[in-house]
Amino acid sequence: MHPWFAKAVILLATVVMVLIRAPHGQRSRTIKVAKTYKGPLETMLLMLAWLGFFLPLTWIATPWLAFADYPLRGLPFGAGLLCLTLGLWVFYRSHADLGTNWSITLEVREKHQLVTNGIYRHVRHPMYLSLLLYSLGQALALPNWVAGPCYLIAFMLLFGLRVGPEERMMREAFGEDYDAYMAHTRRLVPGLW
Ligand code: SAH
Repeated sequence: MHPWFAKAVILLATVVMVLIRAPHGQRSRTIKVAKTYKGPLETMLLMLAWLGFFLPLTWIATPWLAFADYPLRGLPFGAGLLCLTLGLWVFYRSHADLGTNWSITLEVREKHQLVTNGIYRHVRHPMYLSLLLYSLGQALALPNWVAGPCYLIAFMLLFGLRVGPEERMMREAFGEDYDAYMAHTRRLVPGLW
C-alpha cells in the first residue's frame, strides 16, 4: 500500500483528536484550580506526551524520519484504523462524561465532582484507555519505526507513572466515595484490569 494512505489517516485522526479536546481545553482555563499535584515528573511526562503526539506530524510533513520507514501492509493498517476509530470514540465519550472536571494534569478543580456514570461506570480511566487504543492504532497504521510507536511509548510511561498518584489524589479529594467507586470498577479494561 502507498504510505499516503497512512499519512491521510494519521492526519485525519490527529485533527479529530484536537477538535474533540479543544473546547474542553478552552473551558478548563476558566475553572479555578482548588489544588494542584503537578510536580516536575508530571511536567516531564506531559512534554514527552506532546513529543509523542507531534513526531507523527513530522513524519507526515517532512522527510526527516524517512530513514526508519518500512512498507505499509493491509492487515496492520486495517487493525490500526480500527484501534484509532475506537480510541477516538472512547476519547470523545470520556470527555463528554467528565465535562468540567477534566484537566490536562493532576489537579482538583473548585466544585469538582466525582464522575461515576456514563463510560466511567465501566472503568476508572476511560480516557487513558482511549489513548492506549489510539497510540496502538498509530503504531500499527504508521509504517515508520520511530514515528509509529513513539506515542505508545510516551503513553505507557505517562500511564505507568501517573495512574497511582492520580488515584491517591482522587482518594484524598473524595474519600469513601472514591473507595466505593474503586471497589466496583477496574482501571482500564472492564471486568479484567
Ligand atoms: N484518568 C481519567 C481522567 C483523565 S483527565 C481517565 O482516564 O478517564 C485527569 C483529571 O481528571 C484528573 O486530574 C482528575 O482531576 C480528573 N478525574 C479523574 N477521574 C475522575 C473522576 N472519576 N471524576 C472526576 N474527575 C476525575
